This record gives sequence, C-alpha cells and structure tokens, in this order.
Amino acid sequence: MEYLKFVKVYDDLASTTKKLDKTAILASFLRDLEKNGKSEWIYLFRGRVLPDYDAGEFGISTQLVLKAVGASFGISILEVINKFKEIGDLGKVAEYFALKKRQSVLFSSKLQVSKVFDNLKKVISIEGSGAIDKKIGLISELLNSGSPSEVKYIIRTLLSDLRVGVADALLVDAIALTFFSGESEMRLKVEETYDLANDFARVFDAAKKGAKGLESITIVPGKPVKAMLAVKSASLEEAFEICGKPAALEHKYDGFRMMIHKKEGEIFLFTRRLENVTKQFPDIVEVIKKNVKGDEFILDTEVVGYDEKAEKYKPFESISQRIKRKYDIDKLIKQLPVEVNVFDVLYYNGESWLNKNFVERRKLIEKIIKIEKWKIRPAIQIITGEEKEAQKFYEKAIEMGEEGLMVKKIDSPYKQGRKVGYMVKLKPVVNDLDLVIVGAEYGTGKRGGWLTSYIVACRSGSEFLEVGKVSSGLKEKEEEGTTYDEMTNLLKPLIIEESGNEVKVKPRLVVAVTYQNIQKSPAYSSGYALRFPRISAYRPDRDVKEITTLEDIEKEARK
Ligand code: AMP
Repeated sequence: MEYLKFVKVYDDLASTTKKLDKTAILASFLRDLEKNGKSEWIYLFRGRVLPDYDAGEFGISTQLVLKAVGASFGISILEVINKFKEIGDLGKVAEYFALKKRQSVLFSSKLQVSKVFDNLKKVISIEGSGAIDKKIGLISELLNSGSPSEVKYIIRTLLSDLRVGVADALLVDAIALTFFSGESEMRLKVEETYDLANDFARVFDAAKKGAKGLESITIVPGKPVKAMLAVKSASLEEAFEICGKPAALEHKYDGFRMMIHKKEGEIFLFTRRLENVTKQFPDIVEVIKKNVKGDEFILDTEVVGYDEKAEKYKPFESISQRIKRKYDIDKLIKQLPVEVNVFDVLYYNGESWLNKNFVERRKLIEKIIKIEKWKIRPAIQIITGEEKEAQKFYEKAIEMGEEGLMVKKIDSPYKQGRKVGYMVKLKPVVNDLDLVIVGAEYGTGKRGGWLTSYIVACRSGSEFLEVGKVSSGLKEKEEEGTTYDEMTNLLKPLIIEESGNEVKVKPRLVVAVTYQNIQKSPAYSSGYALRFPRISAYRPDRDVKEITTLEDIEKEARK
C-alpha cells in the first residue's frame, strides 16, 4: 500500500471538525486497511507506530528535525530555521522545501507505508553511540523519497503532532462503525476491549472476528492494563450516595499508582500511564517476590514514601525522583524508601478477577500478602455504613498526613480505565487540578536560561485549552522537589515553536496545580483563568489523557 493513501485520509480528516464525518472517513479506510494492509498501521492515525501500552517515543527534538530537513533538501540549517520562524509548523516547512526541490526534477512518489512504518520504528529503537546520525539517516531516506504532502505528515508524526484530530474515542467509533454498523452496545464493547488491550491493532484484529473476537481479549500479566479511575466527591454523604451503604473506606495515600504484575516468576511494574518502571524499583521487585504468594498476578497499588525516623508518610512531590531518575538507583532507594499499599487485584493465577466483587478481591489480597512494616501491606480499610464511624476514619487518615479518603462500592467489579463511581475520592478542600504544560517563557536575571513560567491547559476531547500561566511552586534545589532547571530540561526537547522568549511545547508534562479560584477570562483559550496558580507537584506518572477536563473547570468555576 502506498503512503499517499494515508496522506489522503489525513487530509480528509483534517478538513473537517465534525466527529461523524471523521468517523465515516476513517471507517471507509479501515475496510481498505483490512484487505490491503497490516493491522499495526492503524497506529499511524494516532501518530504512532507502537501500541499505546508501549511508552516508546521517537525522541526527536525540533533541533534534530531542522537538521534532517536541511540535510535532506540540501539547504543550510539557517534557511530552515528562518522558514520555521515564518511558518511555525515544521511539517509545512518540510513540505515547502520538498515542493521547491521537486519542481526542478521529475518526481513520482513510490513511498510505501511499510517503508515509512519500518523506518519510524527504527528511529524509536536506535540507541547508543551514533544514534543521532542514524536517526537522521532514516528520516532523510523518507524525506528524499516522499512527495511534499507525505513529507509534511512524516515530520508531524515524528514530532507527535499530526494535527488531524483523531483521538482514541474516534478510532473506537470508527472500528465500531466498520465492523458493527456503529451499534451503540457494540461500540461500548469495542471501547471496553480497547481499555483491556491498550492496543488498537489487537482491537482491530479482534473486531474483524465479530463480537466473539472482542470477547476473546482478556488481561494478561506482563501487558499493562489501564487503572480504574476515581470520581470526586465533596462530602462523605455524597460519597455514600454514590457507593451505597455499607461501603469500603480506605486511606487515600499521597503517593503514585503502581500496577504490579508477576508472570513466570518475573515482576513488572507499570505506572498509571502504562510506563514500565521496573528498573527504577528493584526494592519493590524484591518485596513482591518475598511477600506476595502466587505465580501470576496483577495488583493495583499506591506506592508511598516515608520518613523512617519520624515514622511518617511523605508527600508525593518529595519522592517523585524515584520515578524520574534512572541512575544512582541504590542510593535513591536508601534516601527515599517507599511502602507498597495494595488496594486491588485484577488477575490471579490464570484467571481474570475483574468481574469478581470488591469484597472478594479484597479477601484475596489479605490472603496472599504477608505484611511487612514500611514495605508492603493491604491498604488500611474499614467497611461501614455509619457516617460517624466514617468521619472518624477520615479524620484519622488526615491526621496521619494522608490526602483523604477513598470510598469504594463493595459489590462492584473492576472497570479498567473508567470513572464509573465504584471508587470515590474525598479530600479536604484543596483546590487542585492536573494540567498539562503547553507553553513556557524564559526567565530573566538569575533565572535567565531557564523556562520559569508555564502555560497550562486542560483537555477538551483531543484538544488542549489554556487556563493560565503559572510561575511559582518549583524549587531551586533538587532536594526540595522538582526544580526549574529540571523542568527546563524536560521541556526543551518538546519545543515545537519559538518566538522571542516564549515557546510552545508538545502537551506531555502533567503538573498538579493549586489555585485560589477560577474566573471567566478571554485571555486564555478555555475562556477561564486560574487565580494565584501554583505548581504543587510535577506528575511524571500521569497521562495527558487523564487530566482535568474543560467540563471539570466549568464545574469548579460555578462553585
Ligand atoms: P486522584 O489522583 O486525585 O484522581 O485520586 C485517585 C488516586 O488516588 C488513584 O489513582 C491512586 O493513585 C490514589 N490512591 C491512594 N490511595 C488509594 C486507595 N486506597 N485506593 C485507590 N486509590 C488510591
């Protein structure tokens, strides 16, 4: 199959904002893909060449693309930079130079999807010495043989900024329309299957075989599963209303979510955004091997830092290093020890436990875990329908320095990737939101060279809408938490546009932001602005898909 076919679909998708039209465009192409292509090429519509559960990234900075474009079209990097400043979209910059070059030679594109896909995959996997040059070589090969519009989309794919407006939900709709005529019950099945598999190629293959195909997909240890999400509640009363009485109450630990898998004796650790962090936590691997019975399992847990001397838990921000840092691990384990609090089980010894009720799942947890102080334990829990008892438990959790309470419906199954009201969070009134950084500004004076203020955005469908600019909260010293220096280093490879001392970045980094209140404001694209925002933590464990939505902001603004 020629890559031009994909480009045609990309153009069609970009030409409309209507969801129904987009779904129809994709669905008619999926039939073609089924007959004439490979299932894994479906990832290209999400601007990827790997399934969602694989965190592999192209690792391509703007600088590298500028270089590759210059090298491919035989022009100076300065000329490319100037054009970039003028147009502001590197995909279009590449298209412009390709067009200019192609006019002088007779050119017919024969670029195959398989070639594009394979080269892009290699760009991800190449590591070690000479990696940069090899990556540029692979990209140049594509740029040299692509037509101008093909070149545009190849660059946009590399920069993870495809601009065709296809979110997961749209791909789900398209698969449902292709194989099940868009029937609403089947759409839900497709969505559930996607939440289990986190892999559109697998869902596509399953859907080809009809409803039976979808049912055949289950969770397996070793492959990350999406976590069940919590609904927010404003009071204990509301929490009970959602979960019913009695409900299970647990402490809400201020750590990070970790899914712990065991398969054939091997332990795998995944964050909530499905990133494999096993290498960063050899201490947890040991604890699990020693203290959890069973050959194969998937546990849902919260990992919390503690201060051994003070015998107290620590807030997430003070141990966030444990996720980020990939060197000096042994030293870090001693400095920032963590405890695993197990609160759910999804799979045990050959069987999915998703459809068993929460009380049964909890019983299994208690049976298979050997408690070891400051190492591992089932999450502290009571089951009650008494509001007084619940209130006391809540106060105790806060006294112990925890974030609040989780209230859980006792007869509920586990719904991966969903906010279904089986799990409700309750916190004392702290206004905080999970937002993504979409832009930044360089500081001046002592902070010159660092990106020190950040434009943060919420999510609306597949779009990100700005809600404010935040410049306080980060630290100057590493021991105190995430620093401006660190944030600058994280943001630089994500830059997609630069003008003056402002930059636009790919929406990747999630931060928790506290604020005083939310006001309507024309200054930001969401129509709202946060007053007195402050970054309370950088959240490398959180996915942009899960951040605060425009709907949440509207709700908060009405309070
Ligand atoms: P939030 O991140 O504010 O939406 O709150 C939900 C998160 O609380 C979950 O994703 C977990 O990481 C965390 N959490 C802490 N303690 C528990 C618990 N006992 N049960 C479930 N989640 C918990």
